Amino acid sequence: MDYSRFLSKISAARQTNPARLTNELAKRISSLIMLAGGLPNADYFPIKTASITLDDGTTIEIGEELMKIALQYNSAEGIQELVSWLEDLQMKIHDPPTAKYAPENGQMKICVTVGSQDGLHKIFDMLINPGDNVLMDEPNYVATLTGLRPLGCNIISIPSDEHGIIPNALKDILSRWRPENSKIPKCLYTVPNGGNPSGSSLTAERKKKIYQLAKEYNFLIIEDDPYYFLQYEKTIAPSFLSLDVDGRVIRCDTFSKVISSGFRIGFVTGPSPLIDKIIQHTQVSTMQNSTFTQVLLLQLFKKWGQKGFLDHTDRVATLYRKQRDSMLAAADKWLKGLAEWYTPKAGLFLWIKVKGISDTQEMITIKALEKGVVLLPGRAFMIDSSKPSPCIRASFSFASPDQMDQASTVCSISGHKEERFYLNV
Ligand code: PMP
Repeated sequence: MDYSRFLSKISAARQTNPARLTNELAKRISSLIMLAGGLPNADYFPIKTASITLDDGTTIEIGEELMKIALQYNSAEGIQELVSWLEDLQMKIHDPPTAKYAPENGQMKICVTVGSQDGLHKIFDMLINPGDNVLMDEPNYVATLTGLRPLGCNIISIPSDEHGIIPNALKDILSRWRPENSKIPKCLYTVPNGGNPSGSSLTAERKKKIYQLAKEYNFLIIEDDPYYFLQYEKTIAPSFLSLDVDGRVIRCDTFSKVISSGFRIGFVTGPSPLIDKIIQHTQVSTMQNSTFTQVLLLQLFKKWGQKGFLDHTDRVATLYRKQRDSMLAAADKWLKGLAEWYTPKAGLFLWIKVKGISDTQEMITIKALEKGVVLLPGRAFMIDSSKPSPCIRASFSFASPDQMDQASTVCSISGHKEERFYLNV
C-alpha cells in the first residue's frame, strides 16, 4: 500500500530526532562511551526500590538495578520487553494477517502511548489536513470529536444502530465519490465494542462488509477499542485488526479500564510505516510514556503471564456485567414507557432516548444536578453539538447498585414523570 497518500502535511514533514538515534545506538552497543545524549546519571536519583502490593496480597518488587532503568529515559516506542509482550498479546487475541509482512508492506508494529487518547490524537495529527473527509458513526466519543473539530476536517456521520455502523448506509455515502477521487475520506473512526456513549457493538458480519468497503474505496480504519476486555457476551466478533489483510487498520488499545487509568498506558497497533510516524511525533512531544509505569506494568504481566492477564480481564468484565445489569434493572423498573434503550453488550454506558422531548440539555445540566444526579446530555456526543438531542448517557461503571437503587427510591417518592426520569439513571 502507498501510505504517503494518507499522511497529513505535518506528518509527512516529521523526521526522526537525531538525539534519539544515538540513544538507540548506545543501547544496542553497550561498550560505547556515551557522551552524546543528555541522559541524567541514574545513580543520583533519590528513589532506590519499591514494593507494590496487589489485591491478592502478593507483591511486586522493584530492586535497585531495575529501579535505575525505571527512572531513566527509554525508547519512544515503549520499553522493548513490554512492546514484545504486547505483540504476543495481539498475536494471541487478533492474530493479525500482517504480522509477517515486510515493514514497507504494512507489517504489524506496536508503540506504547500515554493512554489511547494520546494515540488517537497522534493518529489524527498524522492523517488529517484541513478539508479532509473523515467518516464516523454518531453519537461518538466526545474527546475524539473535540480533538477532530479544530483540525478543520469534515466529519461525515454514518447512520448506525445498536449493532454499530450500517454498512449499506456507509456504501451509499461512499458512492458520492469515485474510488480514485482524491477527496475520498481517508479514514473511518469507530469504537467497535460498547461504543461511548451509544453502547453499540459491531457484529462480525458488519465488520467484514465495512472492511470490504475500506478496500474498495481505499481508506484506513481507526479501531478505537478501549472496551474490548469489557464484553459481556460469550461470542466475540473478530476485530478489524484480525481482518486486516492490507495493512489499513490502526488499532488503539488501553489498560485504562482493566488495570489503571492513572497509569496512562495504551498502545497503538498498525502498519509499520504509520506507527513509525506516530513514534516520530512522540519523540518531539511526550518523548515516551513513563518508564516507571511501563516497568511496573511489565512486572505485573510477568507475574501473571498472558493467561493470568486474560483471567484478570474476565474477572473485571464479570464485575461490570453485574453493574450493567443493575442499571438495566433500575431503568426497567422506573423508565419503561418514558424512554427507550437497548442492552449494551460491552462497555460502561447506557444510551437512553427520552420520549416526548427534543433536548435533554437543560434537564440534565440543571434539573438533574439540583437533585444530585450527574449525567451527560446527548448533544455532547453529536458531530454538531449545538443541535438538540433527546438522549442521555448514563454510566454504570461507578455508582454502586445501592446508589442506583437509592436514586430509584427518591424517584418513586416524587411521582412526577419528568423528575422520576432523571433521578433514576
Ligand atoms: N476512546 C474511548 C472511546 C474512550 O471511551 C476513552 C476513555 N473514556 C478513550 C478513548 C481514552 O482512554 P485512555 O484512558 O486510554 O486514554
